[in-house]
Parts: sequence; C-alpha cells; structure tokens
Amino acid sequence: MTRFVENTITFPYRRSLGPVLGPFMTALTEKRILGVRDGDRVFVPPMEWDPATGEELARDFVEVGPAGTVESFTWVPEPSAQHPLDRPFAFAFIRLDGATTPLLHAVDAGAPDAMREGLRVAPRWRGARVGRIDDIVCFVPGTNPQVDGDDVGPAAEPVKMMDYVASTTYRNPVPIAADRAVAASREGRLLGHRCPSCGALYAGGRGYCVIDAIEIGPEHEEDLPLAGTITNFVVVTPVQYPGQTETEPFARVFVLLDGTDVVLGWQPTVAVAAADVRVGQRVAAVFADPDEEIEEAGVMGGHFGRLKGWRPSGEPDRNDPDLVNRIY
Ligand SMILES: [Zn+2]
Repeated sequence: MTRFVENTITFPYRRSLGPVLGPFMTALTEKRILGVRDGDRVFVPPMEWDPATGEELARDFVEVGPAGTVESFTWVPEPSAQHPLDRPFAFAFIRLDGATTPLLHAVDAGAPDAMREGLRVAPRWRGARVGRIDDIVCFVPGTNPQVDGDDVGPAAEPVKMMDYVASTTYRNPVPIAADRAVAASREGRLLGHRCPSCGALYAGGRGYCVIDAIEIGPEHEEDLPLAGTITNFVVVTPVQYPGQTETEPFARVFVLLDGTDVVLGWQPTVAVAAADVRVGQRVAAVFADPDEEIEEAGVMGGHFGRLKGWRPSGEPDRNDPDLVNRIY
C-alpha cells in the first residue's frame, strides 16, 4: 500500500486595508457594519469603486443591519479546517437591512432544513474583535445579535492593517525506495540506486532512472560514500516574517560524493559558520544520534532520514575548477 506524506505550506503576510475597508474593519470591532452609499444604492462591504462603471465612489459611510435576510445559500455538510465553523453550516448571501448588495457569510443554522431563502438572521460577534470579517463569527437565525464569550470592546486604534495566512496542504506518495533510504539512514548509511541499464547512480531514494525511465529495484542498491566536496552553496539570511523559526544566517551546500557523479543538493551544514563555507571544502556526513529526536520525513532535494548535514572533515580543500557550480 502506498504511503503518503502530507505537507502544508503557509504564506503569512500583512496587507494595508486602505481608506474604505479600514473604517469597515474598525467598525466591526465596535459591533457595527458599514456600507457605502451611492445614490439610492448601499454597497456592503463598502467599495472604493462602482462595480459597474469603475467610477470612484464617495466615502459616504452608512450603518446597516445588524440583522438581514438570507437571499441564497449553500449547505456545507463537512467543514474543512479552513472553514469558519467546525460543524455543518451554510454559506449564505445575506442582505443586511438597509443594504443593496448581499454580504457573503456563514450561518450557524444547525441543520440544512433550518435554512431557507427569506430567513432572518443576525450576527454572532466574537468577544475579542481585531478588525477582520470573522469578528462576526457567523450569523444565527433571528434578529438579536449575540456575542461569543466576554466582550472586550472596540479596538483602541483605527484598524489599518490585516494579518493574513494563506496556506495549502497537499499529499505526496512516498516511493518504496525512499522509505528504504530513510531506513538506511537510521544505520548511518546513505543509500544509492544504480541504474542497471546506464549505470547512473542516484541518491535520496530515487527508485527510477531519469534517463532510461525504468524502475531501479532493491537489488541495485549500494552504499554511497559518506564524504564529499562542496561544489556550490548559498547563505540564507532569514527575514523575520511571522512563523519564521530561523534567526541566524545559515548555509545550504551542494556536495559531490567522493568517487561518484552524485551531487546532493541543498544540504544543511553542521559545526561550521555560514561565513566559513567555501567551494572545494571537504565535508563528511553527520547523522543524528540514535536517541536524538529528529524529523525523518522528506526525501525532497536529496536529504533524507536521519542525515543531519555535513561538517568540515579537516582535509585540505580540493582546488579543482570543474567543481565550481556543479549542482547535479
Ligand atoms: Zn539509466
């Protein structure tokens, strides 16, 4: 049975809200919902430009709701982690009293047969509001607004920025060869696979030949040397964005394994300052101690299992121009 690994990539960023959404978000912290009036139309959420003509709209803010009427909806029977509620709910277009356009939001109705077009709903406010659309946890049937938990009151300052975390989660199948490479690393070994057709040698549990497009079975495994030479490197200076765990500059190196054509890419270094890493430097593999907690996942880019990285071996540098920039 194929094993999968799940990966999540997150992109935290901060955006400025501007002259229209800023007041809208600030008002949410005050448990008020603002629209913007243009003639006899009231847009909610407020807009900077007329959606039909693109003309700039006057910033004529008006308060709407808080109750409104469901115009249409769809039932979400199995919410995902990124949905606003952790139980079945409806996404609905809700036209708040006094608004021309509907607002998209969640309705906590309990069951799908409790939802209908024309249903009157009111906001359930978050107790601790920060100036985001989910300061309204959801809407609930009825016309009386509610507050979840203790009401901490409005924001002290106008809300001008919003933190946002976009994330995506995906699953990759793990080839058997990759599992075998990780298992070998627990014994302090680097497992290679040699193509029976062309003789090319691969690391990182790659169980097929990229030249011949054939699988390479376990009978073609061999141990790779645990020493090599740095052919290329990059020093990464971490930017302190939300979620960043690195604080100091660090190096990632490419290592040409002795007596092979195998270059392991994007390898961590051990026991060497980033500023002291250089092309031609001789290095040796460092594996985690058996009792050391280490994340064993990941065969991407050639590092795998319990290989922690590469430390200077102390041998004299190799001075060979052909090494430079050799990355595969
Ligand atoms: Zn081959």
